[in-house]
Amino acid sequence: MLNSIEKIIYLSLFLLFLIVREYFKARYRKIDYKKSKVKVIDVVLLAFNGIAMIIPLIYVFSAVFDFANYNRPSWINIIGIIILIIATICLWMSHRDLGSNWTPTLGIKTDHELVKKGIYKHIRHPMYSAHIIWAIGQMVILPNWIAGFSFILFAVLVPLLRIRDEEDLMIGEFGEAYKEYIHETGSILPRIKRIE
Ligand code: SAH
Repeated sequence: MLNSIEKIIYLSLFLLFLIVREYFKARYRKIDYKKSKVKVIDVVLLAFNGIAMIIPLIYVFSAVFDFANYNRPSWINIIGIIILIIATICLWMSHRDLGSNWTPTLGIKTDHELVKKGIYKHIRHPMYSAHIIWAIGQMVILPNWIAGFSFILFAVLVPLLRIRDEEDLMIGEFGEAYKEYIHETGSILPRIKRIE
């Protein structure tokens, strides 16, 4: 049940994260693929995503996972809130800047443009970063060994399994322009400029 402050905070921020995601999904739903690369692993990942998202909701609305609760000081909630808000802002910025070039599975749209502005000026995969940040926030805010940790595996697996294919696809489409973009940016963290 919604019997703790952590559950209420998590649910509120989860709804905010979901609203950002669903708003942009609905806006750019129309997908006119020129190239598409759906692998079995994508379907597996989508199923994983569903399970990883449902577990904390089961925790919030029922007591089934309460046996796996642990105690920690309540000031930790503040850190959790900050991390979850950063994740939501990062997701919003990524969708805002990627615009209609967003695709749920790997692909190139008919009028696909290479985005290098906004958050993409610094990071090539900010949407994947947003999910990793969210997963960390979830670990911090939910004092439960199951619900707290349910998303981290998925959030780390997606970039590990997708980035190489995604970047090959982008190089195939944008060639040198994307290779140059790789040198200017970081993958899931901003690139630290070396002093030469
Ligand atoms: N990996 C990115 C985008 C995820 S959506 C992120 O984490 O923010 C996946 C789709 O975005 C891919 O199919 C690819 O076609 C597209 N994409 C990825 N980077 C892009 C870029 N810089 N410009 C335009 N499209 C991009």
